[in-house]
Amino acid sequence: MTLRVLIAGGGIAGLTAALACVKAGFNVQVFERADALSEIGAGIQIGPNAARVMNAVGVGDALAKVSSVPDYQEMRLGQINQNIFRSKLGTYATQKYGAPYYLVHRADFIDVLGDVLNAKAPDALKLGKSVTGYENTANGVKLGFADGSYVAGDVLIGADGIHSTLREAMFGPEKPRFTGNVVWRAMLPATSELKRLIPNSMCIWVGPEKHCVTYWLRDGKTLNFVGAVERDGWTQESWVEPGPKQDFVADFGGWCEPISAVVDAAKDCTRWALFDRDPMPEWTDGNAALIGDACHPMLPFLAQGAAMGIEDAWVIVQSLARAGGNIPAALLRYKEMRHPRTSKVQNAARARMHSNHERSLLGQLKTYAPMWWTSRISPSRFDARYDWLYKTDVVAESVANFGEA
Ligand SMILES: Cc1cc2nc3c(=O)[nH]c(=O)nc-3n(C[C@H](O)[C@H](O)[C@H](O)COP(=O)(O)OP(=O)(O)OC[C@H]3O[C@@H](n4cnc5c(N)ncnc54)[C@H](O)[C@@H]3O)c2cc1C
Repeated sequence: MTLRVLIAGGGIAGLTAALACVKAGFNVQVFERADALSEIGAGIQIGPNAARVMNAVGVGDALAKVSSVPDYQEMRLGQINQNIFRSKLGTYATQKYGAPYYLVHRADFIDVLGDVLNAKAPDALKLGKSVTGYENTANGVKLGFADGSYVAGDVLIGADGIHSTLREAMFGPEKPRFTGNVVWRAMLPATSELKRLIPNSMCIWVGPEKHCVTYWLRDGKTLNFVGAVERDGWTQESWVEPGPKQDFVADFGGWCEPISAVVDAAKDCTRWALFDRDPMPEWTDGNAALIGDACHPMLPFLAQGAAMGIEDAWVIVQSLARAGGNIPAALLRYKEMRHPRTSKVQNAARARMHSNHERSLLGQLKTYAPMWWTSRISPSRFDARYDWLYKTDVVAESVANFGEA
């Protein structure tokens, strides 16, 4: 019998899971509360570990067409524009990791996922359906909606993001934690001045209690800026708001020429509060399970939140494909396989905040001098520092762990 999979949430994790279901031959439906698939106006980095899954679910070529591949990853001192390290990405990373390191506009990425899903399974995506809760039943699972309707399936995948309704339905109310960081986001059209000042790299500019990241998107026509600043408390009710320009200037306007030029040129900027959670002990309940930010929201400082959701999406579907009639066991197996890695990434992203925000000159010397030195003396050893993230191949590991489907 064809497995009937219900997915709550049409974000990056939910759509990837839907594509993996189509590939596995499941009957899949994705319920998204918005009336159209959409994403915020910002860039996203898709590391090789996630790009590999994109190839496996059949969107590799379409994603490549809308993505940029940076030549380097680099780090600079944001106040004085002093280079700390520059390591190769581009074709070097593609060869080393077996998949590219992509930079893409979020809207383009979501469009690609949605278009490929609509082409392969034209009826799978149900828009304007706000999930309110679920129930395990004798034959599977029942998913309820705000309009009073419900749908039955064999298995439910909750991919409804950091403020997940399904997480709350499973484990009770518990708000995510404010991490003490807010981020500025801005997208700017290319100008000759910005082209001269901002490198074609994924560039991290670090400084006391703040850092920012710049990279080019859409064939170098658009610059993406994200700047994180430590804040004691967050008093706004909303977790995202239009940011007053004078606050943006106060946070980054005094930095080196490239960054102050970005701040000057930015017309619209938004300010976000960053939330995360400690690793959660459980992700499943009977025939229902969570993936992505619904179960492991993290600080974005390793650029791996979406990548972890993408890996989850592949693994949960592979485990279901070998369920042999026992769906709860398959979901538990998925959680056992994913939990150590996502917890490690959640914790590493938090640790990265401290190393990106060194306050004192001594702290900066202790953290950045070894990076400066190792990247020059032993570049290949230095480049290997993220192998644990980027070399992980959940496509191959699923076969090794679960056997052939
Ligand atoms: C500043 C910043 C930069 C980042 N940069 C990166 C990066 O470079 N690389 C990276 O890998 N990650 C990055 N991340 C993390 C990444 O954005 C998230 O991890 C990722 O978007 C989570 O995807 P998701 O599908 O799990 O959840 P979401 O993207 O939140 O999607 C959830 C979906 O569910 C829908 N939904 C919610 N509730 C309901 C409901 N009740 N019923 C129906 N539908 C519902 C929502 O409308 C939405 O479409 C960044 C995050 C931030 C804040």
